[in-house]
Amino acid sequence: PGTQLDQDPKKKTVVVLGNGWGATSFLKQLDNEEYNVVVISPRNYFLFSPLLPSVTVGTLEARSIIQPTRFITRHKKRKVAVYEAEATDVDPINKTVTIEDNSELTATSSKVTIPYDYLVYAVGAENQTFGIKGVKEYACFLKELKDADRIRRKLLDCIETAAFAGQTEEEIERLMHMVVVGGGPTGVEYAGELHDFLIDDLRKWYPEIADKLRITLIEALPNVLPAFSKQLIQYTESTFKENKIDVLTRTMVKDVREKSVVVQDANKEIKEIPYGLLVWATGNTSREITRNLMAKLPEHQTQRRGLVVDGHMRLAGAPEIFALGDCTATSYAPTAQAASQQGTYLARTFAKMAQAEKLKEQLAEMREKAPGDDVERTVKRLNKALDLPPFHYSHQGSLAYIGSEKAIADLPFFNGNFASGGVATYLFWRSAYVSTLYSARNRTLVILDWMKVKIFGRYVEIPL
Ligand code: FAD
Ligand code: NAD
Repeated sequence: PGTQLDQDPKKKTVVVLGNGWGATSFLKQLDNEEYNVVVISPRNYFLFSPLLPSVTVGTLEARSIIQPTRFITRHKKRKVAVYEAEATDVDPINKTVTIEDNSELTATSSKVTIPYDYLVYAVGAENQTFGIKGVKEYACFLKELKDADRIRRKLLDCIETAAFAGQTEEEIERLMHMVVVGGGPTGVEYAGELHDFLIDDLRKWYPEIADKLRITLIEALPNVLPAFSKQLIQYTESTFKENKIDVLTRTMVKDVREKSVVVQDANKEIKEIPYGLLVWATGNTSREITRNLMAKLPEHQTQRRGLVVDGHMRLAGAPEIFALGDCTATSYAPTAQAASQQGTYLARTFAKMAQAEKLKEQLAEMREKAPGDDVERTVKRLNKALDLPPFHYSHQGSLAYIGSEKAIADLPFFNGNFASGGVATYLFWRSAYVSTLYSARNRTLVILDWMKVKIFGRYVEIPL
């Protein structure tokens, strides 16, 4: 009933959970001639996360960095079903997924259970809070578009409220204090974007209070960006110092209150830091659906960090499930780079599996009709199709924007590493991301946004 997919009962059904980096790269490269494909995600678009920090201050518009998933699926050989829904349960024994449409509209159907032959599990991760009280209540995360929108609204609200008549000096200082927790790439890139907004726009629009804006980055470890090379860490910290971004290292947030965070510094002293806006970027943890899936396979799923997979990305304990990206526990960092390479690898694996199925059928027919040389040749082809190499990650380098038109890059170079930071690296960062964007529409919109900001500045009004 309804808009059921073009199911061919003779073909295997692949259910794809998610439309982030891993799932989208898989979908783009999958040849679906031999598969019925169903894609399920609570959002109906792919988000280009590396440029998300730019949306928090209006350097880029939200629309410029997203692409409808149907843009990819509508170009496929056979029809693909796309459902905007959240998977709530995976049953690895009966091989089904239960999905729920969270729309506010009441309709005839909002919850269904779909059977699968193969499940591509790429639901990503959620924000880590370490169970610290008050984080979910008072802090803003930076993972999805709605987070960037929330940060932007709250930032401008803090500024407008600070500018309100009769505000005390102490309250102005609190409202204009923007605190970022977590000195990984997300926290650093956000602090850099916020600094640009202050220098390029705030001084023009709010000259009376702009200089009250303070940015503090809190990091538990001895330095920011632990995954980058030493010289780039120093370069980032000195650029932040020049840009008057306070970096509090060896400082751990212990408690989050409505208007302040409680921290423990390197000397084990407890301090309270008032804030107007708090952005929380302390990394990833598994989603509830992933934790539930692990609990169903307790003998095999023994890592708290994420799903255990083999070298071919098959889920330990359920080989019909392939898991990739941030929801897995692997030896490489949870990045877009790794997830998209895994998606490409998996699409190739599915092509080989389809080829092997076809050859098996041919072989059965041949054996019946005319055994001989042809059978031997087909067996060889089948063995080749069944011989799947394991996934191999190829690191292409790490890039991050740090504000004031400077970026840092750690790039593999022969057998070593080439580290660079500055304005030239920023131009490289821009061109690298523009060329990685998935469509001509996104590339055009991003370039136009950058030009608009150069000519007119960032906007400070929020429509609706
Ligand atoms: P995601 O891309 O997060 O996709 C998960 C998908 O699952 C989403 O479509 C989501 O809607 C969907 N989903 C969630 N729950 C369900 C459910 N219950 N049922 C069905 N679907 C579900 N990495 C880099 O390599 N370079 C960068 O420059 C970079 N910059 C980043 C900047 C920011 C601000 C952030 C937050 C991350 C950045 N990353 C970067 C990391 C990168 O975004 C992730 O590693 C990458 O998105 C992981 O891909 P994924 O497919 O595993 O998950
Ligand atoms: P992260 O895990 O890289 O960094 C989180 C930081 O928060 C850590 O340095 C940790 O020490 C700190 N922290 C944790 N608890 C704390 C506390 N209570 N108080 C103070 N500090 C605390 O997280 P991320 O920056 O969100 O990145 C997540 C993943 O996405 C990483 O793999 C990263 O490489 C990737 N990413 C990459 C880019 C890029 O390449 N430009 C940008 C964003 C994210």
